[in-house]
Amino acid sequence: MANKSAPVCVVKHWQDAPKIDEDTLTDDLTRHFYYTLGRDKVGESRLYLYHALALTIRDRLVARCRATKEHIKSQKTRKAAYLSLEFLMGRALSNAVINLDLHEQVQSALQEYCTELEEVAEAEHDAGLGNGGLGRLAACFLDSCASLALPVIGYGLRYEFGMFNQTCEQGHQVEQPDNWLREGHPWELAAPEQARRVKFFGHVEVHTDKQGRQHHEWLDTQDVLAVPYDVPVPGYRNGVVNTLRLWKSEATDEFDLTEFNAGSYSEAVAKKNQAEQITMVLYPNDASENGKELRLRQQYFLSSASLQDVIATWVEQYGDDFKDFADFHVFQLNDTHPSIAVAELMRILLDDYELEWDEAWKITTSTMAYTNHTLLPEALERWSVSLFQRLLPRLLEIIYEINARFLSEVALKWPGDIEKQRALSLIEESEHPQIRMAYLAIVGSYSVNGVAALHTELLKAGLFNDFYQLCPEKFNNKTNGVTPRRWLSHCNPQLAALISEKIGDGWQADFSKISELRRFYDNHAFQQQWLAVKQQNKRRLTELVKQECSVEFDPDMMFDVQVKRIHEYKRQLLNILHVIHLYDRVCRGEVSGLVPRCVLFGGKAAPGYYMAKKIIKLINNVASVINNDPAAKPYLRVAFLPNYNVSKMEVICPATDLSEQISTAGKEASGTGNMKFMMNGAVTIGTLDGANIEIRDCVGADNFYLFGLTAEEAQQARLHYQPLKIIESNQDLNRVMTLLESGHFNLFEPNIFDDIINSIKSSSDPWLVAQDFPSYVESQEHAAQAYKDKEHWLRMSILNTAASGKFSSDRTIQEYSDDIWRLSPMQ
Ligand SMILES: *Cc1c(COP(=O)(O)O)cnc(C)c1O
Repeated sequence: MANKSAPVCVVKHWQDAPKIDEDTLTDDLTRHFYYTLGRDKVGESRLYLYHALALTIRDRLVARCRATKEHIKSQKTRKAAYLSLEFLMGRALSNAVINLDLHEQVQSALQEYCTELEEVAEAEHDAGLGNGGLGRLAACFLDSCASLALPVIGYGLRYEFGMFNQTCEQGHQVEQPDNWLREGHPWELAAPEQARRVKFFGHVEVHTDKQGRQHHEWLDTQDVLAVPYDVPVPGYRNGVVNTLRLWKSEATDEFDLTEFNAGSYSEAVAKKNQAEQITMVLYPNDASENGKELRLRQQYFLSSASLQDVIATWVEQYGDDFKDFADFHVFQLNDTHPSIAVAELMRILLDDYELEWDEAWKITTSTMAYTNHTLLPEALERWSVSLFQRLLPRLLEIIYEINARFLSEVALKWPGDIEKQRALSLIEESEHPQIRMAYLAIVGSYSVNGVAALHTELLKAGLFNDFYQLCPEKFNNKTNGVTPRRWLSHCNPQLAALISEKIGDGWQADFSKISELRRFYDNHAFQQQWLAVKQQNKRRLTELVKQECSVEFDPDMMFDVQVKRIHEYKRQLLNILHVIHLYDRVCRGEVSGLVPRCVLFGGKAAPGYYMAKKIIKLINNVASVINNDPAAKPYLRVAFLPNYNVSKMEVICPATDLSEQISTAGKEASGTGNMKFMMNGAVTIGTLDGANIEIRDCVGADNFYLFGLTAEEAQQARLHYQPLKIIESNQDLNRVMTLLESGHFNLFEPNIFDDIINSIKSSSDPWLVAQDFPSYVESQEHAAQAYKDKEHWLRMSILNTAASGKFSSDRTIQEYSDDIWRLSPMQ
């Protein structure tokens, strides 16, 4: 840690760092290419040119990043820390070029190398430090925080291996490690001098001082070093560059010394490996807990290092007086993953700074805020008490104390109600007691939010109803959003240019202005321009699908797309059943009125999720049968695009006509893929689930293809669900099931789809696939007929983009800032 009395020599040179208003970019690029990287020709690969350009842009970010940090430090204003185990950033180069407004300069600099930005940008590896929606939300939020000039720092983990790469072999998903750092990560800057020390294992000793005060000491711990790597986060053309601080775990020096000296060379190395294991790999489970000890270590490692970081900065500036700390800090917990931060902040304040319990608790409960991301019970994190006892003994004590005090509050509200105490306890009592992390997060936070209106209502009425009754004022909704810079300006530059031509380019900084597009929805000439852009984007996706899947899409056919993590609740199965139904129509010769479609699927299954992997196999087998049937070719093409990630989505959403958002109502917390599609002029077919409801409210029921039960109806339907009767009475579904059961899609792989077939026919199918099939097919038919009427479809497409203003993450972050964080913009 920095010696406070050491003289500080402020290096002023950074003020002379490259300025974006000076045209030194060409020279800087050359310098980095020839000298920093030592290259002299561009060659086949654009990799070195990419690195040189990234370093050139980074020079421009670093100075502003430092200035932003200095500004925050000098102002004594409130600031927020966004704690997340995942940041699904994707590529950084083009985003930085847009936000710094360097496009022209970059293009002209690249002329000397006979290439252009779009080509060089392809050399960048996605930063895939997240699974799906939750991680991508964190990334969109960082962009919006910087763009709104809010003092917000992101804290995450620098996984050596991000989300696995997916390939398909004989239709089966195969996972490969994502060694994303292999070729270097030019955006990050390590700050080893600001490393923090995180404790594990050991035991707690209590001693009482002369004043009768108890002191808890956590001793004989095995410490791990957290080394920060800072990634700059540029705001949209406002001079702000915030920071994403990612922690890497490293062994402390003691490991080497003590054990080494004792002659235990291999033990010392083993322990070093153990320490470095913590940030080795991202757990690839989306919306399901997994309970592995290493995962808890990751969670504590992030929480402890980040809190220590914030507190060290505070103490450096204001000493160890925490009276005002809560006035200047808020910690937003992205799901329960970092919820151990509640107990860790208590530990730091109690043990390291000797605050009294009540004082520490007041600070904790006025600085912590929790975002819930799912209603699925299987996603609710629980950690066994015995694991905590071993790994984090001091944290367990603190959780017990929090629980004891909380349960006495419960007893006041519901006197004598033992059942309530049991239900609300942070500890689930059983043979193997478990800690309920969501309850810890709720009790320790002053704000608990859901991520779409329906989701928040369901939390209050169901999962967290008791807590809602106890403290209704904590609960609030923050409907998710996505950044229009990445998800429109960057991924659909032609549409962006067309929009700007009509309404000016103010919409990029203030996305509510996108509603001005509405004026043109009926203008024929504009519709034709809109169509031309869509067709070009469809050609781009056609290329990708051809390259990756060897399937020929036709840009004149309707592009019907479902890309997202593979999960039963998201019901890719319902979609493929509809595809089988269309194929069945072709086979029966019932093709009059059939609207030609290309159906695209994409998404990763968690490696241990059996049913999700089966669904991928089914999609691939159905695709193979259909694509190899010449009779189907004029009407239907199907592809599963492997390795769905942020960069793929940037090609997919601008090319989509029909966006599939078909989860079982009440199960998708919000969805954000739905918003990216809407911004790019896709029309949604969807259930009344998550943010679909708000999307439909904004665009109007006429411009949205609705089907299926509501969340409430679904709940009722499960009580007496009889899918066999539905299959019997619905001819279409009957034929689809017959085809499926006949083995038509698995001729040489007998029985491989039995579990899928049985799940559809099961009266305990929680996803109600058969239930919603008839209304889904009907709604699909309506969408198809509308697509035939080109002008009708174009009107709907334009209206969808025009109505997407609410779904900018700028709006979401403004609400977080106004209602939860209470931040003021910088400057
Ligand atoms: C937006 C996005 C998601 C989230 O998609 P949903 O449809 O909301 O589940 C997942 N993965 C990637 C790569 C994304 O860009």
